[in-house]
Amino acid sequence: MNITDIKGTVTLHNGVEMPYFGLGVYQSREGKEVTDAVQWALEAGYRHIDTAAFYQNEEGVGKAVRQSAVDRDEVFVVTKVWNQDQGYQRTLKAFDTSLMKLGLDYLDMYLVHWPVRGLYRDTWRALEELYLSGRVRAIGVSNFLQHHLEDLMAVCQVRPMVNQMEFHPRLVQQSLIDYCHTHQVRYEAWSPMMQGRVFGLDALQGLAARYGKDAGQVVLRWNLQKGVVTIPKSARKERIISNSQVFDFALTDEEMAYIDSLDAHERLGPDPDTFDF
Ligand code: NDP
Repeated sequence: MNITDIKGTVTLHNGVEMPYFGLGVYQSREGKEVTDAVQWALEAGYRHIDTAAFYQNEEGVGKAVRQSAVDRDEVFVVTKVWNQDQGYQRTLKAFDTSLMKLGLDYLDMYLVHWPVRGLYRDTWRALEELYLSGRVRAIGVSNFLQHHLEDLMAVCQVRPMVNQMEFHPRLVQQSLIDYCHTHQVRYEAWSPMMQGRVFGLDALQGLAARYGKDAGQVVLRWNLQKGVVTIPKSARKERIISNSQVFDFALTDEEMAYIDSLDAHERLGPDPDTFDF
């Protein structure tokens, strides 16, 4: 991944350019809170917004995107189909609902939020249909382990372009990253800052001080240098801006390896093999 600036992109396997730095909006409240966050992010140069039907803030996200001075075709808008909406017909309907709430006439990327057993293959067929009919520019999955991907790729017509996974210094899953990138599935981090906990990790303080950065900025830079797309969340203007200030320094190979070594296979979120929702 050639890291340039906040608007820099990675090319997905279908040729679509996806900005490798974006704003996450999980737990940003519907209404003014999420609309302000997206507006501030777009003003700060973010060009990728990650929401989900489950976050219940698609209306506010769409409002900010539509009101922005930034052209619609310069913003990469992502949402996800929720577990209760999985299956072929339900997913097609859920997509229409999301698009209506966003108030947009196409989506940049649609993701299967979790690999719901017995349903995700049918859900994927719906995503393929949406993609092939031109209503969404890229399709992908989230929380898919290697065996889920193998199972899907054995039958799919269109391979997923992205896999969005929990990823931070305590949960690296390098073999899954390697598997994804070998198969042209771009790896993307969720909870890249450990939901705020990276700021308290003693192991990162020295490295952060060396660059005059905070632990979050160092970790986000580590994401990008690992070739991982990242979508840090904040609902506060000053943090939205500071989280994006990761393009004026670079970590050395030793520093990258050091952060890799903090891995403890520690999840903050559910395990994709045992989740029950
Ligand atoms: P993050 O790792 O991005 O951390 C967000 C938390 O850190 C918030 O509490 C935020 O608080 C705080 N924070 C942000 N910036 C700073 C800062 N500079 N200093 C101190 N604290 C800070 O967690 P998320 O779980 O939100 O993950 C990012 C995105 O990934 C989500 O928003 C969502 O879009 C996606 N996601 C996807 C999942 C999936 O299953 N596919 C699951 C979970 C997340 P504040 O807002 O008050 O600044």
